Amino acid sequence: MTETDRYKQAWQDRRSRVFSVLAMIVIIFACLKMWPNDLLLAGSVLGLLLAGWRLYDFRCPRCGDRFRSTLDWLNFWSHRHCQNCNLEKDTVPKEPRQ
Ligand SMILES: [Zn+2]
Repeated sequence: MTETDRYKQAWQDRRSRVFSVLAMIVIIFACLKMWPNDLLLAGSVLGLLLAGWRLYDFRCPRCGDRFRSTLDWLNFWSHRHCQNCNLEKDTVPKEPRQ
């Protein structure tokens, strides 16, 4: 696997983590509106917390530390740069010419 492939895979993983959080939010609202069941709602909230943790725990492909170093919920969606090495989100290194 090349370095470019590793970065692309990491960013795809991050997008899937963001999608998981959004999906759990939609499921929670669906539970509230269509199936008002406490157990289902509690499971959905737990799923949202786990999805949020997975997104928070995403590791920067360059430095290996958490992409987000703090839990800043007000600014949760807008982080475009790694908090440690300042790598911009979705950046892929260019392959050296051979
Ligand atoms: Zn980094």
